Amino acid sequence: MRVLVAEDERKTASFIRSALEAEHIAVDVCHDGPQALAGAMGVSFDAIVLDIMLPGQDGLSVLRQMRQRRNRTPVLLLSARGEVNDRVEGLNIGADDYLAKPFVLAELVARLRALVRRGNEPTPRLLRVADLTLDTITRQARRGATAFDLAAREYRLLEFLMRSAGRVCGRMTILEKVWDYNFDPGTNIVDVYVRRLREKIDADFERKLLHTVRGSGYVLKEGK
Ligand code: CA
Repeated sequence: MRVLVAEDERKTASFIRSALEAEHIAVDVCHDGPQALAGAMGVSFDAIVLDIMLPGQDGLSVLRQMRQRRNRTPVLLLSARGEVNDRVEGLNIGADDYLAKPFVLAELVARLRALVRRGNEPTPRLLRVADLTLDTITRQARRGATAFDLAAREYRLLEFLMRSAGRVCGRMTILEKVWDYNFDPGTNIVDVYVRRLREKIDADFERKLLHTVRGSGYVLKEGK
């Protein structure tokens, strides 16, 4: 896996580089817009981390030109806090995901891995289980006409459960896929988040979708 990181703040760039290299991901770093565009068009990367505020040419303009030139490399935008309009515009012009600064490096790594995985398998934008839908671009969940706001981790949990719909997901698997833990932290964090999700997607609805499988884990499906 090879990733281009376009970020003009040297410290941030070097933190990202170290985090990715620790995951055995090859990293190229550049510090301005023109270099980012040249890099994206010149080398085949598995994903690009693209800061919006870049000197020379901003990240959105780099992204727009990439997509105009039919470059489909997955792009994770980095935006400063408050640049909500930029984020929305970024998704509209073809970003695959975004992270607001400040972010946790583990989250960045997990999002990148998800992007690369997604890039290798055709994925519908809208996941659906019964009348529950999840838009993987806007990250909005709905049941029928009711929309729910999801915190980042709730979104990842729901996305994972929906992609695994009908299959029982053990707590350990969920910890691995949603929290990127490969050890049992000895907390009931999964149960806590499942409860939160239930409050949102099931509590007010007669037909329950998120079921507990005693001794095994959880399954999202229509009917018992
Ligand atoms: Ca910047």
